[in-house]
Formats: sequence, structure tokens, C-alpha cells
Amino acid sequence: MDYGLSETQNEIVSVAYQLMREKIRPVREHYDKTEDFPWPVVDAIRQADLFGVYLPEKYGGMGGGTLDLCLVVEQLSRGCGGIALCVAGSGLGTIPILLFGNEAQRQKWLPDLTSGKKIAAFAITEAEAGSDATAMKATAKLDGDHYILNGAKAFISGGKIAETYVVFATTNPARGARGIGAFVVEKGTPGFTFGKKEDKMGIRANPTYELIFQNCRIPKENLLYKEGYGLFVAQTTFDMSRPGVAAQGLGIAQGALDETLAYVRVRKQFGQPVSSHQAIGHMIADCSTAIESSRALLYATAKAVDAAVKPAMDAAMAKGTIVFDEMNALKVRRYTKESAMCKVLCSDTAMKVSVDCVQMCGGIGYMRDFPVEKYMRDAKITQIYEGTNQIQRNEIAAMVIKEAATHKL
Ligand SMILES: Cc1cc2nc3c(=O)[nH]c(=O)nc-3n(C[C@H](O)[C@H](O)[C@H](O)COP(=O)(O)OP(=O)(O)OC[C@H]3O[C@@H](n4cnc5c(N)ncnc54)[C@H](O)[C@@H]3O)c2cc1C
Repeated sequence: MDYGLSETQNEIVSVAYQLMREKIRPVREHYDKTEDFPWPVVDAIRQADLFGVYLPEKYGGMGGGTLDLCLVVEQLSRGCGGIALCVAGSGLGTIPILLFGNEAQRQKWLPDLTSGKKIAAFAITEAEAGSDATAMKATAKLDGDHYILNGAKAFISGGKIAETYVVFATTNPARGARGIGAFVVEKGTPGFTFGKKEDKMGIRANPTYELIFQNCRIPKENLLYKEGYGLFVAQTTFDMSRPGVAAQGLGIAQGALDETLAYVRVRKQFGQPVSSHQAIGHMIADCSTAIESSRALLYATAKAVDAAVKPAMDAAMAKGTIVFDEMNALKVRRYTKESAMCKVLCSDTAMKVSVDCVQMCGGIGYMRDFPVEKYMRDAKITQIYEGTNQIQRNEIAAMVIKEAATHKL
């Protein structure tokens, strides 16, 4: 299907697809088994300039937007959703700095994240604060020119390998959801250490760690935007990053189907390729239809987000102001509902398609030395992180009901 991608975007797809075929497919089983971090693949992604496709040219990026990030994540996830997370997860940690950082903060952190020299991570979840992030216990107390951070964050993607962490902590517990701040914390800051490494079902090429902060002093200048705005930082970031999770799901679904088609066209039973049995043909049709309709919603949403945000982004780059302030000044509408829809649709597609692909391949589909079962394990996380699909559905329903109440139908 022709989605009207620009010449640059078509080039991004082609470079990411080639990289996936040459550098990811041959090694994905190794990294899935060992849980090592794929530094040689990260090097290849850096050399191909794919970390910064969505970031402003001012900091070394290609000046694209959410759609460009999605295109990279989709193609890399087609080979391995775990390896692709080094780009998507770093994006999740970079977007808050892009949207809420002042010029000095952007200058300080974005160039290295754009080039991929450094990887970013995003830390909001705690052991007792998952879906309800406002229950977080981590604190940040102002002491002269520093904030003192205490607490622990759970299940953090890119833990230990990332250098730049956006960490959420409460500055004023009495204010609840309005008392949270977002802080950039660099690896190596005294008082910041790593706890448990998780042993996971899927996306095993990306480490998931507990982060521990014990009297960790971070400069006051590392606060993003203002005290009390942490939840805004997280929510506005999710509007732009959830399409990235959707792209990961979409790539996983497409990759599972690619591998399955290669097999069912040559595997013969009852004297004919199993793909010619109508029951298998119908599953192929349903999987392809689900993938294409998911892609259509994702690309349309990402394009709309980019068109809405671009004037604010351009103004902030030209004037050295904060992107979020320019978004407010230009009354840029939020795409929370559509981003959540993309995440739900694409991740549910990833799960359904990958389960069906195992089924279409039969016994071999269940085996670890055949690539399809890994897609099924990798797919599951896309329904869970950056807000479970139940939480996305809560948000979608709340907004649709509100729209119905305020507009005549
Ligand atoms: C591999 C992995 C990587 C992750 N990476 C990161 C990361 O980089 N940064 C980060 O901050 N976090 C990360 N997370 C955390 C992730 O975002 C949370 O696990 C997720 O938001 C769910 O929180 P929870 O696990 O505490 O589940 P809970 O909130 O305990 O939910 C349990 C169940 O209850 C349901 N539920 C809860 N509340 C409601 C409700 N109101 N309505 C309906 N259903 C509800 C949930 O949908 C779920 O099915 C990661 C998690 C995993 C597993």
C-alpha cells in the first residue's frame, strides 16, 4: 500500500530493512539466548544514522518526526523486537528532553542521544506504582543547588546500558499527581546504582533493571520543565512514544508472517504446500488484513501528530524556547486517544498474528531453533508496557464518552 511517504522516509525504510536483514536476523537467536546487549548491532544502527531520524537537525538529527521513528522501529522489529527496543526505548527517554527541556538542556543531552553515542531510558514504574503512577514513593528534595533523590524504580528497559535516565519522583507528596517532577539523571552519579536484572519471557536482548537512588544528588538544572509537571511530562511523552510501541508490535507481526510465509509455501502435507490448504490460506488472509489495517491507523496517527507538533517544534528551535510552551501557545491538540488506539490495535495484532503464525507452522513453529516462537514471546510485552492495554482502553473510552457528551451526534 502506498502511504505517501516522503523520499527521505522511503529511504529510511529501505536502510532499516537492509540493516535488519544483514545485521539483526543472523544474530537475534544468540542475543535472545544469552540476554547480552547487542552492541555490534547498536554500532550498525549508529552508523546508519537511525537513532536520530525524528530529532531536530539542530542537534544532529534528520528533522523528521514520530512517523520516521515508527518506520525505523517497525523495520528493526521485523527482525527482532528486543533488539529494536534499543531505538524505541531510547526514544522514550529522549522525547521528554525534546518536549520539556530548555535550550541548555537540549544542547547538553540531545546530540549524544541523536547520534546514538548514548542511549536514554525512562523510569516511572515502581514496585507499588505501575498502572497507577501517582502512587510513586520516590522523592526528590531540593537542597540548595541540588535535588536529593531517594527511592527505587522497577522494570526499567535499557537499564545499565543507558547513560541518560529520565526519572520521575515526587517533590511534594501532599500534592499527589500535581507534586511529581521529571529529572535527568546520568549514569555514574553517586548514589545511583542498579538492582535486580529481570529474567524475561521475551525482548531478551534488552536488559530490564531495577534502579536504586540513595541520597543521589543531582544538579537543580536537571529538573525538566517545572516542579509539579512530571505527570504532564509523562503523558505528553506517551502521546508521541506509544506509536513507537505500536510500531514495535506491527514489526513483530510482519516479521512473524514473513517467516511463516517462507515456511508454509514449501512445507508439503497431503501432497501439496500447506499454504494451499484453505484453512491456512484464511489465516494468512486474516493476519495480512490485521497487519495492513494496523499500519494504516499507525501511519495516519503519526502523520497527524507530526503535522500538529511541527510548527511548535520549529518555533522552539528558532527561538530557543521550550517545545511544550510553544505547543500550548499554538493550542496544539493532544493525540492521546489516537496514540492509545494505535498501541492497542498494533499490539493486539502482534499477539494474535504471532500466535496464529506458530499454529500455521505446526510443531516446528513451537521450537526454539525456528524463528517464529520468539515473535510470540516478544509480542506479549507490547500489550503491557507504556500502559497496559486495559489502561489504554480506559483512556480511549473516557475520551470517546467525553466527546459524545460535548458534541451533538
Ligand atoms: C519488560 C518490561 C519493560 C518495562 N520497561 C519500562 C520502562 O522502561 N520504564 C518504566 O517506567 N516502566 C517499564 N515497565 C513497566 C510497565 O510499564 C508496567 O509493568 C505496566 O505499566 C503495568 O504496571 P504493573 O506491572 O504494575 O501492573 P499493575 O498496574 O499491577 O496491573 C496488573 C493488572 O491489572 C490491570 N489494571 C490495573 N489497573 C487497572 C484499571 N484501572 N483498569 C483496568 N485494569 C487495570 C492491568 O491492566 C494489569 O492487567 C516495563 C515492564 C516490563 C514487563
